[in-house]
Amino acid sequence: MPFSSLGFSPALLPALMRAMEEQGYLAPTAIQSAAIPAILEGRDVLGSAQTGSGKTAAFSLPLLQQLVNAPAPAGRQHRPVRALILVPTRELAAQVGEAIVGFAKYLPQHMKVAVVFGGVSINPQMMNLRGGADIVVATPGRLLDLIDHNALTLTNTGTLVLDEADRLLDLGFGEELNRILALLPTKRQTLFFSATFPPAIEALASSLLRNPIRVEVAQVEQTAPDITQRAIEVDAPRRTQLLRHLVQTEKWERVLVFVATKHAAEIVADKLRKVDIEAEPFHGELSQGKRTQVLQDFKIKAVQVVVATDVAARGIDIAQMPVVVNYDLPRSATDYTHRIGRTGRAGDSGLAVSFVSAATEAHFRLIEKRQGIKVAREQVAGFEPVEVLPPNPADPAGTGGIKGKRPSKKDKLRAAQGQTVERARDD
Ligand code: AMP
Repeated sequence: MPFSSLGFSPALLPALMRAMEEQGYLAPTAIQSAAIPAILEGRDVLGSAQTGSGKTAAFSLPLLQQLVNAPAPAGRQHRPVRALILVPTRELAAQVGEAIVGFAKYLPQHMKVAVVFGGVSINPQMMNLRGGADIVVATPGRLLDLIDHNALTLTNTGTLVLDEADRLLDLGFGEELNRILALLPTKRQTLFFSATFPPAIEALASSLLRNPIRVEVAQVEQTAPDITQRAIEVDAPRRTQLLRHLVQTEKWERVLVFVATKHAAEIVADKLRKVDIEAEPFHGELSQGKRTQVLQDFKIKAVQVVVATDVAARGIDIAQMPVVVNYDLPRSATDYTHRIGRTGRAGDSGLAVSFVSAATEAHFRLIEKRQGIKVAREQVAGFEPVEVLPPNPADPAGTGGIKGKRPSKKDKLRAAQGQTVERARDD
């Protein structure tokens, strides 16, 4: 089905099509075909959407049409926030904001999109909201801070999008979410997207949605993934050499390598290129043009290895991805699922390899526990690890800690993550 049959108004279709063509969208993805007509009709939507399904355009394109067709009251200097998109991470906020600005580029009216997230100074975000905004893309905590500073209100917000609702709850945003929901008008359209539907998500969805259309994109990998998981023990500083060795000896033709930071993506790709492996970094600081080029080259096998951060990798939708490597371990079990789900798609078999060092062993065990899996540890000849974990001064006997001082699981995850990032940078 072409974009032109999804119910967009003929007056806006050329502008939207032009923007999509610019981004290389020739035909709608499954979720776009299913969700766009329902959203345009004003229905609530419950979307079961994996990363890379094209859900951002699925909710943004109809949202833009609705906003253009119901313009903000004329003569008002201040733009009321008419649509709110809640996302779990700053990277996703930036990515969604950027995508919407791209889609809105040729519309007859300017749409102001404000992207707000924590971890950076609030002042520029407050300044930016001075004249209001039509669409706000936000992480929950910073949105509430801005509301507390009277930088915006949600009294005119007719559309709420919850993007990656499962991760919002995983990251502990439940309370913030409830506060935000209480500030929104009860009469509104709600679009709810989640990759997984554990009971807490089902409950949240049914409390928020009115007579929703359920949009599920059938994906073979959800039912019968054929992914071999391997865990290779290696000292952190030798990971790049091991990666090179595996790419060459195991004859991997196309590899997606996950690292923790943009910096690590640059460094690892650089080192691989120095040994004649076509490798490119892929992260949020690259221009859209560069990212498109890398993906294009990856698809046609002009690039063999893409070294990506988690969030940027969401944009990588390549049907046949035989090998995924966790160079740095993912932060959470959910991210592990997202990462390895990149391979073994559509009935193909896939391979997911995780590099584990003495410092990250405990973190990997937590991932295994949360996943309910056990992956045999391997060593590769010539790359046997020699590092041992320095004794923990709070726990010299290695018994797991003094009562009352035992680190929480979150502490352990943070510690392991911190070490991994450090090491990726030093590498
Ligand atoms: P999302 O699931 O929204 O994060 O999108 C995943 C990736 O698919 C992004 O890189 C989008 O630019 C791309 N994408 C979304 N819709 C389409 C489409 N109709 N055709 C081609 N690429 C698309």
